[in-house]
Amino acid sequence: LTRLFGPVSALANIHVNIYGSIALFERLFEYLDMPVEIQDRPGAKPLGKVKGKIELVHVWFSYQSDRPILEDVTFTIESGQLVALVGPSGAGKSTVANLIPRLYDPTRGCIRIDGQDIRDFTLKSLGDAIGIVSQETFLFHTTIRDNLRYAKLDATDEEIIRAAKAANIHDMIASLPEGYDTVVGERGHKLSGGEKQRIAIARVILKDPAILLLDEATSALDSHSEALVQSALEELLKSRTSLVIAHRLSTVLAADKIVVLEEGRVVEQGTHSELLALNGLYASLYHQQFKASDTPSSETNPAAV
Ligand code: ATP
Repeated sequence: LTRLFGPVSALANIHVNIYGSIALFERLFEYLDMPVEIQDRPGAKPLGKVKGKIELVHVWFSYQSDRPILEDVTFTIESGQLVALVGPSGAGKSTVANLIPRLYDPTRGCIRIDGQDIRDFTLKSLGDAIGIVSQETFLFHTTIRDNLRYAKLDATDEEIIRAAKAANIHDMIASLPEGYDTVVGERGHKLSGGEKQRIAIARVILKDPAILLLDEATSALDSHSEALVQSALEELLKSRTSLVIAHRLSTVLAADKIVVLEEGRVVEQGTHSELLALNGLYASLYHQQFKASDTPSSETNPAAV
């Protein structure tokens, strides 16, 4: 189920009402245009204990056969590293992120985790190893507790509270009259964008995956909410392999490596200072996008660089 979290997020604007049942939720996908052709290979093995090195090796990909969306994409994320993926809109950043949990498979080339082609692993074990925080957070029409527990079905209440505290969302939940039993979602209590993001972060903290895929929000949060999300993300990024579709200056500065995509190709990769020195696409994105994105809030937001 977890591997479907990405496409659900992409579909969140369809306003589907789901009444709390994971089984129903799974059945829903039979009616949607999901990439159901991705299945376990015969003899697929569980991924086992993950160190977390990720390699994209000459990856090509098309949604439709005639138009390549990714062309010969090659880069490596060493175990425990934070890699920031940047590039203009439509460059293929989300597509790269979608290939890692195998929402789609490359048309040519391969993706390896700890040296082995991810198509050799069971989808279940791959999904268990990967946590996703995307721009839209899908909430079931059920309690906050169950929305969190969905990330780890056997989580105790104590674990749920610990994750919510680490994600800076516990105090807000505790202040609601019904606390963790508050029903949320389309027909329940409405959470703000920043609160939903922190629920998504709490879910991943609870799941504790070796690999994190994070699509940073572009939507403007108020500076208080922004600071809470930012410090929750720092907690999440500790000690795991992370690929972040970066929209914040603080993330690109913190990254071990920045990979710059343009029209489906990797055009530059390196650290912030290496890429600035190249004075190419990253340098111009930095001046237009990243510097601008953090400038207004940096006066009021202590978490911003
Ligand atoms: P943004 O920063 O705007 O989110 P991006 O760099 O993440 O963009 P992608 O979302 O990966 O880019 O899209 C890359 C290209 O693939 C775009 O031209 C987009 O229209 C196309 N694309 C994305 N998803 C699909 C899909 N499901 N079917 C067909 N084409 C798609």
